[in-house]
Amino acid sequence: MEKQLVEPNNLDELWRAALSEIEIQVSKPSFSTWLRNSKLLENRNGSALIALPNSFAKEWVESKYHKLILGSIRSIDSETKSVEFVVEGSLSQKTISRRHREARQQQEERQLVFQEMRVDPATGLNPRYNLNTFIVASFNELAHSAAQAVIENVGSKYNPLFIYGGVGLGKTHLIQGMGNEIRTLSGGKVGVKYVTSEKFTNDVIWAIKNRRAEDIKKAYREADVLIIDDIQFLGGKETSQEEFFHTFNALHENNKQIIISSDRPPSAIPRLEDRLRSRFEGGMIADISYPEYEARFAIAKTKLQEKGASLDDRVVDLVAKRVQKNIREIEGILNKLVFHQITYKRPLDIPTTEKIISEVTNRSASRATPSQVLKAVSGFYEVSAVDMVGRSRNKEFVEPRQICMYLLRELLSMSYPDIASRVGKRDHTTAIYAYKKIADSVEKNPELSRKILLIKEDVNKFE
Ligand code: ADP
Ligand code: MG
Repeated sequence: MEKQLVEPNNLDELWRAALSEIEIQVSKPSFSTWLRNSKLLENRNGSALIALPNSFAKEWVESKYHKLILGSIRSIDSETKSVEFVVEGSLSQKTISRRHREARQQQEERQLVFQEMRVDPATGLNPRYNLNTFIVASFNELAHSAAQAVIENVGSKYNPLFIYGGVGLGKTHLIQGMGNEIRTLSGGKVGVKYVTSEKFTNDVIWAIKNRRAEDIKKAYREADVLIIDDIQFLGGKETSQEEFFHTFNALHENNKQIIISSDRPPSAIPRLEDRLRSRFEGGMIADISYPEYEARFAIAKTKLQEKGASLDDRVVDLVAKRVQKNIREIEGILNKLVFHQITYKRPLDIPTTEKIISEVTNRSASRATPSQVLKAVSGFYEVSAVDMVGRSRNKEFVEPRQICMYLLRELLSMSYPDIASRVGKRDHTTAIYAYKKIADSVEKNPELSRKILLIKEDVNKFE
C-alpha cells in the first residue's frame, strides 16, 4: 500500500511551510528566481516530488538546493527521506506537446539572445555583419556611401577610409560588412584582415616578448584590406603606434586598402602621434551621427524581422522614441521585450514595455563597476567573492570565476590584463581563455545564457 503521509490538499501547506524556512536561508534574488514558482506535487513513501517551472530551474535547484530542501521538508515531515525534482507538467499527458514547446522556446531564446559569434579565423570577420542588413538613413548615409565607393574601388579611391561615431551606432557592422562584401565580390581572392586595435596591440606585445616581430609584420602586411576597429585605443600606446605607422605605410604604398573606425575623429584622439593623425586625415573621413526617429523605428522593425519575432507597432514605437543614441541598446531592449513576450505567452502591454525600457536605459546610464559585477556573480552562485577569485579549481568556483571575467569584458569592456588582475591577479591569457570559453558556451547552451541574463539583471542591484 502506498502511504501518502500528507493529503494532497495539505501538500501546498507543507510546501509553504518548507519554503518559508528555505527563504531565510538563501538570498532574495535566488529565492524569487528559483523557488517562488515551485510546487510540491506529492509526498509518498518517504519521497517528495517537487515541480519547477522549467528545466533550467529544475537543474539549478537540484544542484544547489537539494540538501536544503530535503532538510526543511524533513523538519516538518520527518518521514520524508528523499526529494526529487521534475519540470512542471512533464508528468501529465501533455508531456509531449510541452516538451516540444519547451524545445522550441529554448531554440527561440537562443536565437534571440545570442546571435552567432562565429568568426572566420582567416579574416577575423563575423559573417553576421552583412551590408544587406545595414540600414541606411541620413545619419549614416555619408559613411555608407564612402564604404560603397571603397568596395567598388578597393585601395584606389579613399585610402584610408576613416569612419567615426558614437558607441553602438554601427561602426563595427559597417566596416566588417565591407570586409565581408569585398570577400564575396572577389570570390575570396582579396585578402581581408579585420582586427580591433586592442588585438593589434596584443599582437605587437606578443611579438616583442617572443622575438617574433617579423611574423607579425608579415601577417599584417600580407593583407589586401586591413580593417582596424576602435583605433582610439591606440592612444598612448607608443610601441603599437610605431608598429602601426610602419604597417600603414607599407600597405598604403602598395595600394592596399586601410579601413579604420574610431569613436572620435583623428584630431580628438588623445596621445596619438601627429604622423599617424595626419595619415588618418589623408584619406576620407566620414562620420556616423545619431539616427532620427524614423530610422530607429525602421531599424527596430528590421531587427525583429531578422529574429523572426514580432512586437506590436505601439511597442516598437515606444522603443524608437525612448532610445535615441544607441542601436545596440535598441536591440538589447527588443531582445528583452520579445523574451518577455515568449515567457508570458501574451502580447506586451504599454506599461510593461515602459518598465522594461526604463530598466535598461537607467541601467546603462549608471554604468556598472567591476565590484558590482563581482558581487552580482558571487551572490548569484552563492559563493564568497574571496573563493571566487581564489585559486581553487573546484567546479563550484571555476564557473562563477569565468563568468566574472566574461562579464567584466562584456559589460565594462575592460582589457584582459585589467580583468586578470581584478579577478585574483591572474595572467591575462587566463582572462582571454575564460572570456572565449564562456562566449563560446553561451552560444550553445541556452541555460548558461539564461543564467548570464539573470546575473546581468542583478549587477545594478549592488552598490
Ligand atoms: P559600434 O561598433 O559603432 O559600437 P556596432 O556596429 O557594434 O556599433 O552596432 C551595434 C549594433 O547595432 C549591432 O548589432 C549592429 O548590427 C546594429 N546596427 C548598427 N547600425 C545599424 C544599421 N544601420 N542597420 C542595422 N543594424 C545596425
Ligand atoms: Mg564597434
